[in-house]
Amino acid sequence: MTLEGTVALVTGASSGIGEATARALAERGARVAVAARRKDRLDALAGDIGGLAIEADVTQRDQATAAVETTAAELGRLDIVINNAGVMLLGPIVDAPVEEWDRMIDLNVKGLMYVAHAALPHLIRAAEQEPRRVADLINVSSVAGRRVGVGGGIYQSTKHAVGVFSEALRQEVTERHVRVGLMEPGAVATELTHHLRPEVRDALSTAGSDYPILQSEDIADAIAYMVTRPRHMGINELLVRPTEQV
Ligand code: NDP
Repeated sequence: MTLEGTVALVTGASSGIGEATARALAERGARVAVAARRKDRLDALAGDIGGLAIEADVTQRDQATAAVETTAAELGRLDIVINNAGVMLLGPIVDAPVEEWDRMIDLNVKGLMYVAHAALPHLIRAAEQEPRRVADLINVSSVAGRRVGVGGGIYQSTKHAVGVFSEALRQEVTERHVRVGLMEPGAVATELTHHLRPEVRDALSTAGSDYPILQSEDIADAIAYMVTRPRHMGINELLVRPTEQV
């Protein structure tokens, strides 16, 4: 399926997977709104792809809603939402700075839910209309949404929550032709690790692997695959790891 005639919103599009996904959807014909906090980066990206830059902190419910409403108002409809903004602050639970937990829960869980809530009426409407008569909400989880291990307790909790939310919502709206898909990347080279505390980053880098990890474009390509399937075919869940990641 081409995405000609469709409108997409990508959150967390100022870097990494979100930026690459915005480019991939635009290449396939969608008009794309890109949302995040770093407006300079969004403006550059929107200039490249002929898209719409929206400055938004999606942890704030009014800003999450405004990002959705601005997209629909400026671009005329909303067919595809890539709910991608996220933060990963790894570390032990004991003696953790609880502020980091708040940041992860506020963005990875609540921000994602706010965007979904605001977008659903538009997606349901789009699914009744040409050109596709189907709509897509892709929630970006992680391999961390399937696994449990030391050092990732809160991040993994947020990504497990994304999985539960997505499956419950899928059951609720799938008969209305809104496809809720879960994208679960393994290790991807992005800015995600830049926000770790130095001691956590050092511990991770010494435990690091020497195999090639994924690029943002690999995940963007997989997301583009999900949203270009024919109307009768829903990709509910897609786990994509670097081949050598155990
Ligand atoms: P990046 O750090 O490159 O991207 C994160 C994006 O989220 C940025 O565009 C950032 O923009 C945005 N963001 C952060 N806070 C907010 C906020 N409050 N409101 C709106 N946007 C915000 O990392 P990735 O591209 O790797 O991460 C994208 C998603 O992929 C995340 O959900 C992550 O958990 C997931 N993921 C990543 C993996 C990896 O190995 N990289 C593996 C598995 C999953 P800005 O700061 O401008 O607001």
